[in-house]
Amino acid sequence: MTPADDLSPELADALRRAAGAPTLVIACDYDGTLAPFVDDPTLAVPAPGAVDALERLAGLPRTTVALLSGRNREALAQVSGAAAPVVLVGSHGSEWEGGFDTPLDDDELARLARVRSALEEIVSHTPGAHVEPKPTAAVLHVRPVEDPDRRRTAMSEAMAGPAAFDGVFVTEGKNVVEIAVREASKGAAIERLVEQTGAEIAIFIGDDVTDERGFARLREGDIGIKVGDGQTLAGYRVADIPAVVGLLAHLAELRG
Ligand SMILES: [Mg+2]
Repeated sequence: MTPADDLSPELADALRRAAGAPTLVIACDYDGTLAPFVDDPTLAVPAPGAVDALERLAGLPRTTVALLSGRNREALAQVSGAAAPVVLVGSHGSEWEGGFDTPLDDDELARLARVRSALEEIVSHTPGAHVEPKPTAAVLHVRPVEDPDRRRTAMSEAMAGPAAFDGVFVTEGKNVVEIAVREASKGAAIERLVEQTGAEIAIFIGDDVTDERGFARLREGDIGIKVGDGQTLAGYRVADIPAVVGLLAHLAELRG
């Protein structure tokens, strides 16, 4: 049985079309897509053949292969064992490397400085709170603030102040708010890969709800592939991780 036997005729057609694209981007989620879930996430190694297939594809001309993960980039590199020319994108698209990292422009830098100083102002009258600087964001932490009223007040000030600035992307958690000046999502990451490579076709493969933000941003003609059951915006579906490995190997053969 060849890997292609596992695929629906529609997906097999789509892969043939992708194999013929002058420039191709292949973006893959990691956990649940290339690596089975295990109790200890640091031991979630890729399924047999997965890295080999990714590296074969990444070695082909005008073919960019990226892993898009919620893990931080270093953890992703460690657990996957994948390396250049495979592009590793961590933290849902906010950590880049391999020549795809573009520095903030002057507007973004100015906005980030405004966000930071507004958060520092809140911290200055909220004992225990602090601001964590990140390359494209600033994060207000209020967990160590002892008085719950002060904690709530600081969070409301942040939401009404810098979180409401134009051009920021806000992620609110329990006792923490992250305010970024550049969008971090798998969808934005795929768009960036397509923009920088000029790819006519992008393939995105993922299993989880967070991957829907990736599928949602694909263009007509791009190929979204959902792994496993569940509602999805992806146009295609495969059953499980071995089927993902099979389709990547098949694509490498078609394009090689
Ligand atoms: Mg996943």
